[in-house]
Amino acid sequence: MSKDPTQDKILWDVPAEKRDALRLSLWNTCAERASSCTSCALSATRHSVVFGEGDNRSRLMFVGEGPGADEDETGRPFVGRAGQLLTQILSAAGIEREKVYITNVVKCRPPNNRTPQPEESSACDAYLQAQIQLINPAILVLLGSTPAKWILKTTEGITRLRGRWFDWRGISVMPMFHPSYLLRYPDGKKTGSPKHLSWLDIQEVKKKWDEVRSGTTKRGEDE
Ligand code: SF4
Repeated sequence: MSKDPTQDKILWDVPAEKRDALRLSLWNTCAERASSCTSCALSATRHSVVFGEGDNRSRLMFVGEGPGADEDETGRPFVGRAGQLLTQILSAAGIEREKVYITNVVKCRPPNNRTPQPEESSACDAYLQAQIQLINPAILVLLGSTPAKWILKTTEGITRLRGRWFDWRGISVMPMFHPSYLLRYPDGKKTGSPKHLSWLDIQEVKKKWDEVRSGTTKRGEDE
């Protein structure tokens, strides 16, 4: 994909009464283009394009690395073991999965679940940027090293990045461990373990989301 479809029109300059219709039209155009995209080599081996899932009017958005085998099979993000753990973490923190939006840096599965190559992330970036622009989240959670480095343009590792708030284009960004990393550590309750740290992080996210929702119910996207 060579061009962000939202660049064709300046969404936020459009009168409010026409904005929702334009936004929906741009969203559908973006999803449709992705569904048949062949802009990078991952298109050759994918079964499904996993565009994303959830409430695309939510103020809270999650970005992971890329689809795995279960996601490639079903066309849905975060549905395998790691996805089920993410759903559990969200639920434990009082966040309903269907009330947030979840996607990945690349929309097609890298073979053998390898890390996406920079050129693949770059080819897919217009979709991610369009999704972020159209959803207009107040909070962006980056799951794992790949989205954290990609969005924040840093070389710092996820261990140093996680648990800290960053301001990125006016959005509050929180990097967290990817749930697949947490699956490697069964000692969930041990203080300082990856699962324990993730529990602290998601509670921070929930706290900020509550603050956002209590101050911005006008658009009603979180209702
Ligand atoms: S990963 Fe992204 S850029 Fe590559 S083929 Fe899939 S949708 Fe297109």
